[in-house]
Amino acid sequence: MCAPAATARVQLRVYSGAADTVYNAEHTIVAVTEPGATATIGGEAVKVYPNTGSFGAKVQLKPGTNKIEIAARKGSDKAKETLKIYLAEKRAGASAAKAETGNKEMTFAQPLIVATDSGAYLQYGPAGDRLGGSKMCFLDSAITLRAVGESGSLYRVQLSANRFAYLPKEYAHAAASAAPELNVTGSWSITRGEKADRVSIALPARLPYDYWTEDGDPATLCVEIYGACDNSNWITQRSLDLGIIDRVDFRQIESDVYRVLIHLKSKYVWGFTVGYDGTAMRIDVRHAPTSNGMKGLHVGIDAGHGGKYPGAKSPAGLIEKELNLDIVLKLRDMLEKAGAHVTLTRSGDTGPSMTERKRILRDAGVDISVSVHNNAGGSPLSAPGTAALYKHSFDREFALAVARRLLELDVNLFGLVGNFNFSLNGPTDYPNMLVEGLFMSSLEEENLLADPEFRTRMARAIFLGLEDYISEALGK
Ligand SMILES: [Zn+2]
Repeated sequence: MCAPAATARVQLRVYSGAADTVYNAEHTIVAVTEPGATATIGGEAVKVYPNTGSFGAKVQLKPGTNKIEIAARKGSDKAKETLKIYLAEKRAGASAAKAETGNKEMTFAQPLIVATDSGAYLQYGPAGDRLGGSKMCFLDSAITLRAVGESGSLYRVQLSANRFAYLPKEYAHAAASAAPELNVTGSWSITRGEKADRVSIALPARLPYDYWTEDGDPATLCVEIYGACDNSNWITQRSLDLGIIDRVDFRQIESDVYRVLIHLKSKYVWGFTVGYDGTAMRIDVRHAPTSNGMKGLHVGIDAGHGGKYPGAKSPAGLIEKELNLDIVLKLRDMLEKAGAHVTLTRSGDTGPSMTERKRILRDAGVDISVSVHNNAGGSPLSAPGTAALYKHSFDREFALAVARRLLELDVNLFGLVGNFNFSLNGPTDYPNMLVEGLFMSSLEEENLLADPEFRTRMARAIFLGLEDYISEALGK
């Protein structure tokens, strides 16, 4: 038996908005009390979210000192906090954005010959943000390049007479000599493997390249090889019954830019991998999964953050890594029930690196993968909504299918976001996309995320989106 609590205080914690001096008359305050309590900010009743106890309001400040009372009450238990906020006049130029101080680009007197290390990738330009610079493509190791300059942590490398790109120095080491500036291509062979068709192109050296897919029905996979000119007098298809490739071709785009064209049999791309065997370029184009819809499909699921990386934290104290994992485990159960085989990048509170997560998915040979996160940012009083994100255009249909189902949760659409530079969306080896469930920083969306039943519905929406895409793409 417990005696009633002696204290007559209800929980109250100011989460944001407690500032000494501000320059904006419009000021947002967020606080947290117990679910079921009532609350006021500056004497005005505000909505207390039932699952979290979070509440907030925008107040108008007067010049000078403002006293704002925040009060909560549950039955006869009460609590009160008073914020003292000074509204100062706007400082001249205070809001002027600071000019971006980018890295200065330096040109080397002599090109420096470098070779790529495992994990190397190229960027189009020297810019970067929290996700890094916009990636052009991953490169195999031991590809020599001419670095003609540098910009901070990047080498500027020359791919062909007219094409340049940027290579992170951490994925390069000095090399003795580079390939000649012009290299002739040798024979091609196109073969059918168990899970992929393979295009092999004989080259005298491991040359740099770029790759992309052209949307269309059917789709085309393009691989551009820099420093190469055509002398492929045998382009030999060794099977008349390829799994996914319809036919191959090439274009000599510039005198030292050689474009490989791989026309597929349908508009769906199930992944491709570009690399080298010795100095022969190897392009593996994966067949469609042989699963019967979801039955037998191998799905990779990634729960964002984990371990010492908590991700976002909500006003009421929800932690992103925990929400992500909860949704992912629910999704796993739904998939397994439907007969799918699931590989997780983490099943507990661990925080594998991005490289490790990609290795787990690639080594497992997943057919398709989804990464689950939740978002943060913007006003806590807004409800920005859900987002489906992808990097490569061939993943758009998949992301779109999931986005459509997420909207059935009756939430706003933040967006269907392409060219998203998230590490796990970089691989082309299998279709992949990222879900940013809802905004944990939004009081309304935090309230939804706090409800385990809602998280089950979110897992269900991702499941249904995946199922929609698979049945459309496999025609089953
Ligand atoms: Zn996240």
